[in-house]
Amino acid sequence: MFDTAKYNQWMQSSRVLQVRYISLLTALLYCIYAQIDPFIVPTKSLFFVQSIHLYFLCPSILVIVGLTFFEKYHAILTYLLILDPIAASLGNFLILPRLDEPTLYISETYFIIFWVFILSGLRLFHAIISVSVIIFISLLSSMYLSSQAFMLHLFWILCATSFGILGAYLLERSNKKVFKNKEILANLANTDKLTGLYNRAKFDEVLSHELARTERFHHSFGLVMIDIDYFKLVNDNYGHHVGDTFLVEISTLLKNSVRSTDVLVRWGGEEFALICLESSLSGILTLVETIRTRVEEYSFMNVGKRTISIGVTMYEENDTDTMMISRADKALYDAKNSGRNCIKVAK
Ligand code: GH3
Ligand code: MG
Ligand code: MG
Repeated sequence: MFDTAKYNQWMQSSRVLQVRYISLLTALLYCIYAQIDPFIVPTKSLFFVQSIHLYFLCPSILVIVGLTFFEKYHAILTYLLILDPIAASLGNFLILPRLDEPTLYISETYFIIFWVFILSGLRLFHAIISVSVIIFISLLSSMYLSSQAFMLHLFWILCATSFGILGAYLLERSNKKVFKNKEILANLANTDKLTGLYNRAKFDEVLSHELARTERFHHSFGLVMIDIDYFKLVNDNYGHHVGDTFLVEISTLLKNSVRSTDVLVRWGGEEFALICLESSLSGILTLVETIRTRVEEYSFMNVGKRTISIGVTMYEENDTDTMMISRADKALYDAKNSGRNCIKVAK
């Protein structure tokens, strides 16, 4: 299923650079625009026109550039990217009656429309909102144009809008495709092929992320190692293929027994690791006891009743991933030495 919220978040972060550089270039071009103004605008209106280009539009676009550097303001960017082009077209509307020949500046509108759709980094839906207002404003400017000029004006608006919508739609479609492929690859890279559980790569990622988070926020979390008892006998007695099927079956049972916040991975061979986020030792012990008894009571296809041994450790201050893993491993070893089918907590 397509995760729209995740896609939007991904797009927002991947568009930050685009928004920064496009906006920077746009601000620069408005500065150049202001240098051209004296050649076109009558002297009495020059200050007004240059003020719009240089002292209003240019800084308001630079605000967008500045905000791209602060992640907490990224949500505001969308609003500014909708509003700034509207402000530009409003500025253009105010400038037109001050010119001897309004058609000279009218083409800015087509560029603004194109900018919103293709360059701004806005999503199609937001671009359409912005452009709708821009078109409305630019239709009002018909009062300053001759009927022939207005007809051409409508045609160029149609061109800019239709190319813009088509371009933005195709861009969004290909972005969604890239996102889907990225998700598929990420899933493949994080998934164990046989059992469908997360693999060691995902385990490393989650554990190091959780260690960093816990160091900062002092949450409690635990690491559990699970190992099937006498699994080698399954292979020896029934063959490797039955061993594989059993691994898939027990993985499903484990997966259905953990909570949605727990991260269950196939650690390797017939061993599993479980990272229990935001959990106390007593909570984890209740959970793993449930898992242990479920496995003990379950009758597996071909191989019947089987048991598991479990080692548990909690996060301790200044822990590293290797320290936690080694403690959980020791606890598991302890469980094996205590006769198997039991749970041991690291001392
Ligand atoms: P213990 O109770 O001490 O854990 O005994 P055990 O036999 O489970 O432990 P051991 O680690 O000696 O055996 C694990 C076996 O798991 C050895 C290996 O051949 C088998 N194995 C590892 N990966 C796979 C796999 O993907 N499929 C199958 N069928 N077997 C595997
Ligand atoms: Mg084993
Ligand atoms: Mg083992």
